[in-house]
Amino acid sequence: MGRIKAVCIAGARYCENGLMERAVLGRLLALRFGTLAPGLVDHVIRFWPELAEEHDLRVSWKLNCWEARRCTTLIRGKGGGAMLCPALTATALCGIHGGMNGGRACWTVRGTFCAGQTQGTMDEKRPACEDCSFFRSVEAEEGPWFLHSAALVRIARRRGGVSVD
Ligand code: SF4
Repeated sequence: MGRIKAVCIAGARYCENGLMERAVLGRLLALRFGTLAPGLVDHVIRFWPELAEEHDLRVSWKLNCWEARRCTTLIRGKGGGAMLCPALTATALCGIHGGMNGGRACWTVRGTFCAGQTQGTMDEKRPACEDCSFFRSVEAEEGPWFLHSAALVRIARRRGGVSVD
């Protein structure tokens, strides 16, 4: 697949998952594809519905935490640079509970940006997560297929995840 086409399809998938804010999309694509990608953001934003339909991206994902909570997915780091919520980039958790990256297993991801604040480790944020409406909705929706944190951490480590604990 040509590189430009790969960038556009990946961009359509991010848009399909509620990540269509220009800065967020540009950063995600740059992380994955390098400096070529941000130049295609306008194109992706314009054409993602057609791309998603053409490449059958519409059926694959359930609601992710950033869509459900409409939270800030991009914040300024200490050095002034833009940082993405690590739930978005936790590829080791992709597909868990039908979510994109850490989108439906965010309670195991260290340093998420819930409520506009950088959170701590899985253990540190456990009380807030257990009280979180999104966590409860995933637990209810998945029923007997819901994976508990210890299993998620094992899966992420096996896949080479670094941002869970
Ligand atoms: S509070 Fe916890 S469960 Fe809720 S969105 Fe944030 S990381 Fe996920």
